[in-house]
Amino acid sequence: MGNLLYRLRCWLERLMYGRNGTDQLNLALLVVYVALVALQAVLVALYPFEPVSGVFSILQLLTAFFILFRTFSRNLEKRRRENAAFLGWWQPKQRAFRAWRGRVRDRDHKYFKCRSCGARCRVPRGKGRIEITCPRCHSKIIGRS
Ligand SMILES: [Zn+2]
Repeated sequence: MGNLLYRLRCWLERLMYGRNGTDQLNLALLVVYVALVALQAVLVALYPFEPVSGVFSILQLLTAFFILFRTFSRNLEKRRRENAAFLGWWQPKQRAFRAWRGRVRDRDHKYFKCRSCGARCRVPRGKGRIEITCPRCHSKIIGRS
């Protein structure tokens, strides 16, 4: 059994040698694929004779094909550029979402956004009506904490 697993691993390593394999873009495409499958399942459950579900099948096929193509591609330079372009688009959104989640979870502070420069200012909660000076542009923010 151990021998078989070893041989399987060697085979896989030989197969993937010089190929792109998995990257963040492929992972994102996998999420898209799963979402398409789930959406189609919901659609079919609600409207059994809806022809639109066929469109989902085509989209799933295209996504799966693109994932396989990118995984086994030998054009590493091009796949790396695609992945970098994806990350350039995705990472600012991910950062904004994490910052927002952090603000929502923070029960001890209230956050104000400066109207003139957009900076976020954090103040302790429960101090009533307050006036804050923006640390970046020094304009006044008046709010309730
Ligand atoms: Zn400001």
